[in-house]
Amino acid sequence: MPPSRKPKFAPLKLEACQPLERVHARTNLRQRTIELDQALLADAPEFVRITVHEIFHFVWRRLDNATRLSWQQMVEGELRQQVPGELGWSAEWRKAKIVEDGGSPRRWREYACESFCDTAAWYFSPRRTHPEFTLGRGARSIRKRWFDHLLATRPLPL
Ligand SMILES: [Zn+2]
Repeated sequence: MPPSRKPKFAPLKLEACQPLERVHARTNLRQRTIELDQALLADAPEFVRITVHEIFHFVWRRLDNATRLSWQQMVEGELRQQVPGELGWSAEWRKAKIVEDGGSPRRWREYACESFCDTAAWYFSPRRTHPEFTLGRGARSIRKRWFDHLLATRPLPL
């Protein structure tokens, strides 16, 4: 029997939309869609940053548990050491809530995911500075090495 050429997952669908309320993009993991505010098309570096963040939500969802756990342990270590800052607002406000009240298990899960996606967005961003890149240099270089290793060792699941 010839090998199936059918892709394992449905293709991702990317759409430019009228201005979205309060967000640059909206992702639906089940429908495999990403809606992007069309204003991003006029700002290439921001388009890359936001789009990579959204694409990495699909990567996070399909990563193996050991890899996700490795990421969670790294960012939990940063929190224990009170490392300030983040690499995007999405992770930053969740981190602030956890610092404030300890965070629910759900908040911790969201923070792990958003910090992963924000770090991917920073990693691939053509910009080295951005108002949302507030994480210190030491923590940035540890996260960069973590991503270098991830990208060097396997194709990413989408
Ligand atoms: Zn996100």
